Amino acid sequence: MTIESRVLAVEALYGQLEKEISEFQSHTKLHCVAGCGKCCTKPDIDASPLEFLPWAFHLFLTGKAEETLEILKERSSTLCLLYNPVSLFGGNNGSCSQYKYRGLICRLFGYGANRDKVGQLRLATCKIIKEGQKENYQKASEEITKELHVPIFTDYYMNLSQIDFRMGNIIVPINDALRMAIEEVLQYYAYRPFPSGLKVTA
Ligand code: SF4
Repeated sequence: MTIESRVLAVEALYGQLEKEISEFQSHTKLHCVAGCGKCCTKPDIDASPLEFLPWAFHLFLTGKAEETLEILKERSSTLCLLYNPVSLFGGNNGSCSQYKYRGLICRLFGYGANRDKVGQLRLATCKIIKEGQKENYQKASEEITKELHVPIFTDYYMNLSQIDFRMGNIIVPINDALRMAIEEVLQYYAYRPFPSGLKVTA
């Protein structure tokens, strides 16, 4: 499968997830607090390289893949490279500098569910939502165990790995996933022509 077709397939999966999340949100009224980037400040976020393939491909098309790869290779912090804090001194405010290209884990967290040991669906969301939107959170938690449809992490990761089993099944710290996604694109085009019809844009 070419890089372009894998990128399109990952983007299609994200499109489907976006629809499911928007239905879930409009039903439950759960929402991220404006300006909050707390979940991106976790130092131990794991992801698969495949979920960042659209981002890496975008970097390649805009001529920024090599320089970003070097930055990632030298980076010692485990905080996601793409996180843009409002303050360098901590706090919850901040945002993703590449929101359009964020990974599957970033999209699912907050509005996706996992199954517990007895197979019951549990919403995976943050303390800020659980405590600040307590009533809606409790109602949503009950409803997903009955009839309310919620995106499920394992289903989405399974669908992702069907696009590219090798890249979709590796789960590594997020900055390694970013690095591996860029390496995949650069290696792919090392001996191939620039993708037809796509121009380098700043
Ligand atoms: S890719 Fe963006 S949304 Fe995902 S953890 Fe990094 S900064 Fe946050």
